[in-house]
Amino acid sequence: MSADSPDSRERTATAPMPVPRRFDLEIVSVEDWTQTLRRIVLRAESLRQLDYRPGQDLMLKLESGRDTVNRRYTIRRADLGRGEVEIDVVRHGSGPGARWAESARPGERLFDVVAPRGKITIDRGVDWHLFIGDETAIPAMFHMAESLPDPRKVRVLLEVGRPVEAPPPPPGLDGAVHFVHRSGGPPGADGPLLAAAAGAPLPAGRGRAYIAGEARTVLAVRDLLQGRGLTRDQMAVKAYWRRDQPNLDRGEPDSAE
Ligand SMILES: Cc1cc2nc3c(=O)[nH]c(=O)nc-3n(C[C@H](O)[C@H](O)[C@H](O)COP(=O)(O)OP(=O)(O)OC[C@H]3O[C@@H](n4cnc5c(N)ncnc54)[C@H](O)[C@@H]3O)c2cc1C
Repeated sequence: MSADSPDSRERTATAPMPVPRRFDLEIVSVEDWTQTLRRIVLRAESLRQLDYRPGQDLMLKLESGRDTVNRRYTIRRADLGRGEVEIDVVRHGSGPGARWAESARPGERLFDVVAPRGKITIDRGVDWHLFIGDETAIPAMFHMAESLPDPRKVRVLLEVGRPVEAPPPPPGLDGAVHFVHRSGGPPGADGPLLAAAAGAPLPAGRGRAYIAGEARTVLAVRDLLQGRGLTRDQMAVKAYWRRDQPNLDRGEPDSAE
């Protein structure tokens, strides 16, 4: 991993993170939540014992030709009493993850799912929280934001392709969530999100920024916020995918430029 990779900047919460385990899951339902986000609910009896933090994800083992690859999707919501978790997958093309989501049907099984993965979750010891990401980060940002008690201390900036692709904000967060649009531009080009980050209010007190999405964009947003006075340890940065390159078999984008 390069010294400048977003992964090397992942910050851990102070409390120990839950230990990942393996699960065999069944698809309960598949629905198109928005024009670009496909919502898939997964269930297992053993998920009743899942311990996870908002912002953490599932690592799925998916077919890719004769091989299997890992692809990661953030837990959007969990109903642990029913042993269910929900993920929202961006419909974007024909990689193994996108193909799986397109063909997913209730009753199908997924084996060896690892959960929870990921080190980024809410830092509760700060005065305000700024969430920034593209549509792959909507599950993480919404789940982390809705877990905070005071919406006045939360701002969520998200990029989608067109206004019609913006999902409704979680209850109570209407005033905190702002969408920017690519207006026909390709996903993963950093323009709209950078402009949003440049204009985002950075209130007084100690804040924290959570930045996730396309690899080059997250670094550009990080650098911009650093230029505006946030320090590296005030930012949790995670690359979810890289424009024009498949993720590595382990589910992460390649950190080499
Ligand atoms: C910790 C973590 C959490 C994540 N959470 C989510 C989540 O909740 N929901 C979600 O949808 N994704 C999420 N992602 C991103 C997702 O895992 C990647 O987008 C993954 O690359 C998709 O796999 P794929 O097999 O479809 O495409 P790949 O085989 O990785 O890539 C194939 C092609 O598709 C392009 N591509 C990949 N993703 C996108 C995209 N979103 N838009 C446009 N082009 C793309 C690539 O640049 C490449 O050209 C997460 C990633 C990580 C690391």
